[in-house]
Amino acid sequence: MSFANQSRRQFASDNYAGVCPEAWATMTEANAGHEVGYGDDTWTAKAANLIRDVFETKCEVFFVFNGTSANSLSLASLCQPYHSILCHELAHVETAECGAPEFFSNGSKVLLLGGANGKINPAEIDRAVHKRDDIHYPKPRVLSLTQATEVGTVYSLAEVRELAGVARRFGLRVHMDGARFANAIVALNVAPADLTWRAGVDVLCFGMTKNGIAVGEAVVFFDRELAREFDYRCKQGGQLASKMRFLSAPWVGMLKDGAWLRHAQHSNAMAKRLETGLRGIPSVQIAYPVESNGVFVRIPTAVEKRMHERGWKFYTGVVTPDESRLMCSWDTTAGDVDAFVQDLRELTGANS
Ligand SMILES: *Cc1c(COP(=O)(O)O)cnc(C)c1O
Repeated sequence: MSFANQSRRQFASDNYAGVCPEAWATMTEANAGHEVGYGDDTWTAKAANLIRDVFETKCEVFFVFNGTSANSLSLASLCQPYHSILCHELAHVETAECGAPEFFSNGSKVLLLGGANGKINPAEIDRAVHKRDDIHYPKPRVLSLTQATEVGTVYSLAEVRELAGVARRFGLRVHMDGARFANAIVALNVAPADLTWRAGVDVLCFGMTKNGIAVGEAVVFFDRELAREFDYRCKQGGQLASKMRFLSAPWVGMLKDGAWLRHAQHSNAMAKRLETGLRGIPSVQIAYPVESNGVFVRIPTAVEKRMHERGWKFYTGVVTPDESRLMCSWDTTAGDVDAFVQDLRELTGANS
C-alpha cells in the first residue's frame, strides 16, 4: 500500500478538500461543554438565523447530513407518489443519488429534460408537461434546477426567472439543488434572495460541504407551508442529527463574516486560472463555459493515463461521456493549478 500521494491536493472532487479554518473554529467552539440535542441548541438557532439574513426572509431551515438527503427529502415533501419531478438529464438527483428521490417520495418519477451546457431548455418543460395529460402519466409537479450545474455552468438570473416562470405557469413547484450555490452567487454577483425566492424558487438545498465544511447541508423552504412536518420526514429518513450543533456550527463560521463567499470566489478563480492554462495546450479541449469551480476537458486517453501515473487523480466519463472533470476547492492554490498544467503540457508535448 502506498500513501505517497495521500495528502496532495487533487482536482478529482471539491469533496477531496478538508475543512476550512472558519468552519473548524466554530466546531471547536461548539465542542466546549454541553448543549441541547436534536437541534434545540443555540448553534442551530444561530445558523438558521444567519441563513434568514442571507436570504432576507423568514425561511424555514433544516440541517441534514448530505446533499442526497436534502434533495430527496425536500422533493418528497413537494410530491405525492403519483407526481413527477422534472430535471436536466445530467442532474444529480437523476444520475448520482441511487434513486433516493423516488425512494423517499414513495415512487414519484423523475422525468428528464434536455438542454445545452447542463442547463434545462425551457421548451423542454412545456414538452414534458404536455406530452400527456391523461391519468396514465405521472403528473408533473416539480421543476428541479441545479445551480451551479453539474458541468460547471451557471444559470443567469434571467434564466432562473424564465424557468421558474414557465414552471409556475404549468402549476409546478420549483426546487433548486444548490450543492454549489455559493459558486453561482459569486459568479453572478447577485443577491441570494434574487436568485431564489424572488425568482420563484420554493425550496433550496443549500450545500456547504463542497465549499469547506465537513458535513451538513441546509434545506431552506421559502414557502413555509411546504415545510410543514418536514421535521418528521427528516427523523424518519435518518436525517435528524442527535448532536445537531456539529452540523450547524460550521455554518455559523461560514456565514457570519462572509467566508462562504470568499471561499467560493477563490475556487471559481482557480478554475479560471486552470481554464487559461489548459487553453494553451493544443490537444486539450474545454467542453463547457467555465463559470464556477469546475473545468470539463477532453484529454487524449494516453495522456490521461500518464497524468494518473504522475499521481494526479481526476474522474473521466463519470458526469459526461469522455470528459474529465477537474474541480477546484477552497484550498486549491495557484501552484497546484500551475503544476497540473505544467505536467499536462509536458505529457502532450506542448512544451516541445
Ligand atoms: C455533491 C452534489 C450533491 C450532494 O451529494 P452528497 O454526496 O449526497 O452530499 C447534490 N447535488 C449536486 C449537483 C452535487 O454535485
